[in-house]
Amino acid sequence: MLAFGSAATVLGLVIAVVVVRLTHRQAQSLKHQAMFDALTDLPNRLLFADRVQQAILVARREQRVFALIAMDLNRFKIINDTLGHHIGDLVLQHVAARTRACLRESDTVARIGGDEFVILLATISDLDGALIAAKKILAALADAPTLGGHSVDVGASLGIAIFPEQAQDAETLQRRADAAMYFAKQSHSGYALYSNTLGQDAEDRNALQGELRHAISHDQLVLHYQPKIDFKPGHVNGVEVLVRWNHPMLGLLAPDKFIPLAESSNLIKPLTVAVLRGALRQCEAWRRAGIDLSVLVNLSAVNVRDPEFPDKVAAILAEFSVPPARLELEITEAALMSQPALAVACIKKLSRMGLQISIDDFGTGYSSMAYLKELLVAKIKIDRSFVKDMASNHNDAVIVRSTVELGHSLGLKIVAEGVETQEVWDQLHALGCDDAQGYFMSRPLSATDFSAWLKHSQWAAGERVETNIVDLKTA
Ligand code: C2E
Ligand code: CA
Ligand code: CA
Repeated sequence: MLAFGSAATVLGLVIAVVVVRLTHRQAQSLKHQAMFDALTDLPNRLLFADRVQQAILVARREQRVFALIAMDLNRFKIINDTLGHHIGDLVLQHVAARTRACLRESDTVARIGGDEFVILLATISDLDGALIAAKKILAALADAPTLGGHSVDVGASLGIAIFPEQAQDAETLQRRADAAMYFAKQSHSGYALYSNTLGQDAEDRNALQGELRHAISHDQLVLHYQPKIDFKPGHVNGVEVLVRWNHPMLGLLAPDKFIPLAESSNLIKPLTVAVLRGALRQCEAWRRAGIDLSVLVNLSAVNVRDPEFPDKVAAILAEFSVPPARLELEITEAALMSQPALAVACIKKLSRMGLQISIDDFGTGYSSMAYLKELLVAKIKIDRSFVKDMASNHNDAVIVRSTVELGHSLGLKIVAEGVETQEVWDQLHALGCDDAQGYFMSRPLSATDFSAWLKHSQWAAGERVETNIVDLKTA
């Protein structure tokens, strides 16, 4: 019994060892599969990412540089489509082997997608090292090998990005190498080094667009408020809402840095919705505190061309206890004229909902005031380029005066923007202009700064401004 028991124990041990061995081998194989590309046996995206991360740590610690090369084959798709997948696979294996063979042991060549390869040159001492390696790769792939009985001329395009000069993290480094690669491909130059001018193209635009999308949905947009002053009582009657982007790396960005990007990518729609909500939320808060101010929100041409926009505005308005008349929408003359039929339909609808519509930057386009009146537009904002220097420029003064006169004769209210000096304020006041905005009264302010402005400014309280106007008249 004892002997049998021992034999069974030994057998059990043997089986256990075999099982452990097998699972160890299987585990090794699974590990290999997880980190290497089955077709070329090159490291895959996962392992490559790990190596780049290691390279970043070493380079930071030892204050060294390294390069990342993105490589794409020039004619792979055509070869694959015309000669078949089998030849396509042979091409990829050929490229992998040749590239691997011409570089140092310490470099990593990886396949991260169809015909996309990446190369990590971890031990270069300078940029020249990367350029030499790129030329070596191109030379290694220059001949047209015979694969599966076909002579195939593959050709490759390489894009180089250097750490830390051109990017300080793995993701940016990869994007920049890709951008350089696209440039090399388009210009048929074989290889290209990432440069900052190159980066301003598609790559940075795409990155910024992604970040803007994130910013809109993650409350990174900040609203600033610039008071609009009514000349008659001489105090603030509304605020223009001006958006800024609080970018985590670049700081507070002005609208001209991202509105054009938003407009060209349709992100302007969610952006406008976010601004409208923010503006109405603030307006509601002020109303609760006993401050009755209109909020003026800027629209883009994309918004006024969108047939669903008026309904969207109505739905947002319904979320807040703000009367529609306290929401003013500003549409530039240029936006109005770009697609007049759609814009007109939109403006009429918004106006019938009880909202105030004003035409922004008036004087820069070719719309006629009589036409605007027909559109149910309530206000015209004279562009700041005419207002700013009207005290010293006679032509500007004439344009402003005739705009005020003609507008009034048609029953439109006239707002002047860009009032920077007391002199301009006085002239506009004398012309009977209705409202004014400008640095002279206040720059756009954050909500907190605007609250402080409301407490202390001469334009915030009726009586003090009356005194001020008397002063102005006698000055
Ligand atoms: P805008 O609608 O003409 O807005 C007035 C711009 O003039 C603001 O620039 C404001 O800071 C500036 N400004 C105000 N007073 C003066 C002054 O006395 N002198 C001078 N020189 N400038 C003055 P900002 O905030 O940089 O906005 C620029 C433009 O960005 C706006 O021009 C508007 O077209 C656009 N924008 C701003 N916020 C939004 C938004 O939420 N949506 C859309 N679609 N566009 C927006
Ligand atoms: Ca405006
Ligand atoms: Ca304007």
